[in-house]
Amino acid sequence: MASPPDPAPSASAPTALGADFHHLLEHLDDGILFLDRQWRIVYANRAARRISRMEPGFLNGATHWELYPTTVGTEQERIYRRSMDERVSIEHEFYYPPFDVWIQLRTFPIPTGIAVHYRDVSQLKQANTRREASARQLQQVFDVTSDAIMLLDREYRVTFLNRRGAELLSRSGEIVGRNLFQVFPGIVYKNSPYVATYGQAMEKGLGGYFEAYYPDPLNLWFAVEAHPTDDGIIVFFRDISHERAAAEELERKTSQAQAQAAEIETVYRTAPIGLALFEPKEFRYVRLNDRQAAFFGLTPEQVVGRTLTEMAPIPGLQELFEQVCAGTPVINYPLEGELISHPGEHRYWTVNYSPVQAPDGTVQAISAASLEITAQKKAEKALIQSEKLAAVGRLASSISHEINNPLESVTNLLYLIAAEDHLPPEVRTYVELTQAEIARVSQIATQTLRFHRQASLPTRVSARQLVDPVLKLHQARLTNCGIRVVTTFVSKHSVLCLENEIRQVLNNLIGNAIDAMRTGGRLSIRSHDAHHPRTAAAGVRLTVADDGHGMSSETKARIFEPFFTTKDLNGTGLGLWISTEIVQRHAGTLTVRSSQHPICHGTVFSLFLPLGEGAEEI
Ligand code: ADP
Ligand code: MG
Repeated sequence: MASPPDPAPSASAPTALGADFHHLLEHLDDGILFLDRQWRIVYANRAARRISRMEPGFLNGATHWELYPTTVGTEQERIYRRSMDERVSIEHEFYYPPFDVWIQLRTFPIPTGIAVHYRDVSQLKQANTRREASARQLQQVFDVTSDAIMLLDREYRVTFLNRRGAELLSRSGEIVGRNLFQVFPGIVYKNSPYVATYGQAMEKGLGGYFEAYYPDPLNLWFAVEAHPTDDGIIVFFRDISHERAAAEELERKTSQAQAQAAEIETVYRTAPIGLALFEPKEFRYVRLNDRQAAFFGLTPEQVVGRTLTEMAPIPGLQELFEQVCAGTPVINYPLEGELISHPGEHRYWTVNYSPVQAPDGTVQAISAASLEITAQKKAEKALIQSEKLAAVGRLASSISHEINNPLESVTNLLYLIAAEDHLPPEVRTYVELTQAEIARVSQIATQTLRFHRQASLPTRVSARQLVDPVLKLHQARLTNCGIRVVTTFVSKHSVLCLENEIRQVLNNLIGNAIDAMRTGGRLSIRSHDAHHPRTAAAGVRLTVADDGHGMSSETKARIFEPFFTTKDLNGTGLGLWISTEIVQRHAGTLTVRSSQHPICHGTVFSLFLPLGEGAEEI
């Protein structure tokens, strides 16, 4: 800065001073002023003249107070006067409004008065003020930022912590001035990026980032960024506990959702009903479960891509799907027909078809759930059939009852005719033949009546009482086929049962045995005391054995199914199915052994019946 023109070049120095000293004072940057005891300015060097804006007449003229009236009554005046009176040196700094300057001065008592040494410190002041202002601003910025900020010196001592930082770390106590690793010794100290990141920032001047859990007393997750500075590290850190918790929650939910999806997938795959998804244009299989594929005897992969009608050419099905495509679901619809995979096999289903709609309402797929009810349908029919049979039985029973009375009359009348002495021998032969035939008719009627008499209460019967009437019923066929019957009744007990139902079982077993021995053989029926194989209840076991053609294992596996028969039109396939039901109701068992061995072939059915309450020996 160029110095202003010298306002008082002729100012004279005190006479006591030599020329050299005068010269020196003139060239000082600081102002030097001498005041005499009457407060007149007796000397002012060049700098003083400049700073105090002196004019030539200021020296040795008016008093300092007259020349600078605004200083009167100020601290400056008080100091000057004290210095003058008490002969002491005093320092003072003050603002001088008329010149808008900051002055720093020091007084010295001298023999003639006082000397004042002073300088204009305005610029210094301004710089300081600016520095303070910007430091304040920085502090304010640091305090309002949501990041926590910490400064570390080269010894990892915390030199600064902003407001947010202080909040977050409040539970760790006062940490400014302490070594960071002493404040947080426990945290993830080893095997963590914590120490390494700080070390790198300090030693290598590289910024770094890490996330770490700060345990008790903080219990917080922090995301920490460390950057090197000229004299240490600046650390920005953020509480990410919530984010962490949210991320963990998300992870937990995701794995839960995955588990659920797996469960649903398993249920879907193994559900006992057929499930499938079709695309809505050509009705091709997009997805289907095992059961649905099993309807066709295929795997799901073999069915995907094929069309509905290709797999199930069932009349009306296509139309049903079109209806679903138009947005109307089909619920519990009975469907029946044949599948291409099993021609000739009539099957039944209950189906539900629903449109799968996209958010905009368009049908993006059709979902189908099909429950096969073929077995139930057949069972239903069988029940109807067996009810019919029961009705026929009742009918037969009432007819035979009605026939019995006239039969008795006819028998009596024939007896009377036969008792006539004068009968020609020829006629007698005819009468005797008629008597024999009528006896047979009478027997059949009695048997039928007995067989079908509906006993509503269980009765106690012996094995022989159960078997004999049935054998009589089959007598004609047994004779015709040349079958020898051997009965051995060893059991000593009677069983409590609905005898007609058990006879129905025996009737079928014996009928089946005869069917298997068309060209003759041996039918062996035995009874002996036994115990239930599982409950060990006492009972009687009846075996019906034939040496007929026997069964293959495939046949044997299916004989108790309704409608399973190997006899075409001559069989109903209901006999054994109904029998198992009857036997179960009696808490008994019905088992079978069979062999097709060329030499020893045949079948043995074994019927176990518990004795029931009040058992007694015969
Ligand atoms: P159906 O006699 O009307 O065929 P069943 O239920 O009584 O019906 O018998 C089912 C099937 O079991 C028969 O068709 C036959 O194949 C087989 N079966 C039953 N008993 C015998 C037997 N004693 N010997 C050989 N096969 C038999
Ligand atoms: Mg049968």
